[in-house]
Amino acid sequence: MKLSDLPALNVAELRELLRAREVSAREVVEALRERIAEIDPAIHAYLSLDLEEALKQAENVDLDLPLGGVPIAFKDIISMAGQPCTCASNILRNYRATYDATVVERLKKAGAITFGKTNLDEFAMGSSTENSSAGPTHNPWDITRVPGGSSGGSAAAVSADQAFAALGTDTGGSVRQPAAFSGVVGLKPSYGRVSRFGLVAFASSLDQAGTLTKTVRDAALLLNAIAGPDARDSTCLANSVPDYAENLDRELRGLRLGLPKEYMTDGIDSQVRAAINAAIAHFESSGVEIVEVSLPHTEYAVATYYMIASAEASANLARFDGVRYGHRAEGPRDLLDLYGRTREEGFGAEVKRRVILGTYVLSAGYYDEYYNRAQKVRRLIRQDFAEVFSKVDALISPTTPESAFRLGERSADPLRMYLADVFTIPASLAGICGISVPCGFARTEEGTELPIGLQLLGKPLDEARILSIAHGYEQGTDWHKRKPRLAPKLQVPSSKIQT
Ligand code: GLN
Repeated sequence: MKLSDLPALNVAELRELLRAREVSAREVVEALRERIAEIDPAIHAYLSLDLEEALKQAENVDLDLPLGGVPIAFKDIISMAGQPCTCASNILRNYRATYDATVVERLKKAGAITFGKTNLDEFAMGSSTENSSAGPTHNPWDITRVPGGSSGGSAAAVSADQAFAALGTDTGGSVRQPAAFSGVVGLKPSYGRVSRFGLVAFASSLDQAGTLTKTVRDAALLLNAIAGPDARDSTCLANSVPDYAENLDRELRGLRLGLPKEYMTDGIDSQVRAAINAAIAHFESSGVEIVEVSLPHTEYAVATYYMIASAEASANLARFDGVRYGHRAEGPRDLLDLYGRTREEGFGAEVKRRVILGTYVLSAGYYDEYYNRAQKVRRLIRQDFAEVFSKVDALISPTTPESAFRLGERSADPLRMYLADVFTIPASLAGICGISVPCGFARTEEGTELPIGLQLLGKPLDEARILSIAHGYEQGTDWHKRKPRLAPKLQVPSSKIQT
């Protein structure tokens, strides 16, 4: 195999070659570096790379470990000792993490090579990766479009074969939605399945680390490495971890999948609907029973999420005041001036919007009316899921109502941007697990093809089941095998990109 062909491999394939000593970890890192140098100027998936460190790890790695020698990229909100952790925010522009997040530590222990930090919406607030202080990431399938967000850099890197796999975070859809837009597999584990220690907090009752991979098997391999209790995160559950990769090959026949009727509304793009209907037909022909179910509180989910997530964000982001971390305003008159100007200069517009919204819903006069009420609705949403999971094994839905939108198209309309997450947010509020897998393509007016994502949702801690269903679907279809046609020559001149 030519070294330049290596980046197109998935984790499972790469692992075989490394174990058989057919390639060295050094060669893998170098091949990836070449690929990034060629492609990333058009995509902008990475915010920072430390090749020296990657090569050092490659020299010393044990290739017989589960992920021995496999480079993995990380969303730049995940702490890695000595590396930048900017959260795509000016306030952390020069900040370097002083310790490894548990997910980083565990992947290293499994033999992975930590490789590069990827772009995101500032502090993971967004659905397009346009809210990045470093500028947007472009969708590898059509570089005039967004890759989704907030883990858009991780999704685009995997999609464009600039990463074998990547970690992201999902608070309201930030792993599943960019996976759908970029044509890769995105797994959000249940709340508490994976340690959050070392993730910069956005909304602590919702945040969860997740994986972006080329196949479902790769998601299982990564989850094997990162899942499980962690004494440093008290919200991390103590439950034991099954071998997700070993449990993939289960029969689909006899399963019952619920189709929430509130998720198949008129708001869905016709090509997305057609792809989901085709996936449903595929499951039925594999012996799966599809039953319509109802999640009656779905319509309140987005509003509920924006109250709770913003309230938690306003509290979590209070620490960025110019005293302990990152940017500090120059020549302040007094302490309040220091706080005010540091935050004014350091945060972007969307982060400010959330902090203001969050402070408002938590303020004395409105706490009961907004925040408390949102918590009650959250409970109802959780109950909706608990009820349907007593009747079905998992749920099936589109991941997003539409495929990737154009860069710049929604920036001026936050509400429309928020609605890109209507199908991912309820699962986050309920703390259940979800996965998005490629299930088709939509053709644009310009003739480009954009990936469509199918979402499977499972009970809390039922990752093994949704992974096996997703794997069964993937084995029976070819969508995951298609790659964006990306050659530097095909690039659209940047003047044509609306931003
Ligand atoms: N797009 C949603 C938001 O802007 C979700 C983000 C996320 O999951 N981090 O909050």
